[in-house]
Amino acid sequence: MFLKRLDTVGFKSFAERISVDFVTGVTAVVGPNGSGKSNITDAIRWVLGEQSARSLRGAKMEDIIFQGSDSRKALNVAEVTLTLDNSDQMLPIDYEEVSVTRRVYRSGESEFLINKQTCRLKDIVDLFMDSGLGREAFSIISQGKVEEILSSKAEERRTIFEEAAGVLKYKNRKKKAEYK
Ligand code: ATP
Ligand code: MG
Repeated sequence: MFLKRLDTVGFKSFAERISVDFVTGVTAVVGPNGSGKSNITDAIRWVLGEQSARSLRGAKMEDIIFQGSDSRKALNVAEVTLTLDNSDQMLPIDYEEVSVTRRVYRSGESEFLINKQTCRLKDIVDLFMDSGLGREAFSIISQGKVEEILSSKAEERRTIFEEAAGVLKYKNRKKKAEYK
């Protein structure tokens, strides 16, 4: 599984429709302070189901919609699509290429899609659970995260190992079964 492409429009500083193609190997994003490098990883985390505005460096979810600049009006919708190569079937879905889309409107409404089909947020979260790429995975290490991992308690560290080992999905299913 690897990231192929990120398409965004109206997300944070990206008012225009932009498309980032990731080729195999290492991709480095460089640019001056405030040019939107971290906004790219925010977009990836958001489309994978991030629900905390604070961890996307905002106060409320609306803050991720382009808020306007001196030369451009604010927009009313933000949209991000992440396209992945799934030819190794790492994601439990019968497609060689998988795209996930998330939209949020200023009115507060949200839309989620897997391969252009409307779905629930939960479907996206479930799809990526234990893939190593979910919203709680450690494939995105932000500033401060390394320290957090090193200083975390034994139980918290256990969650990190469980995620890496891919047993989180079974733990969650067990928990759900026990509630019934
Ligand atoms: P650094 O090198 O300092 O880490 P960076 O390249 O990671 O910088 P980001 O944090 O990705 O920069 O981008 C910050 C910019 O995004 C700021 O200029 C901020 O005004 C802009 N921004 C954030 N949210 C919005 C929004 N909703 N609408 C318009 N611009 C936004
Ligand atoms: Mg940054």
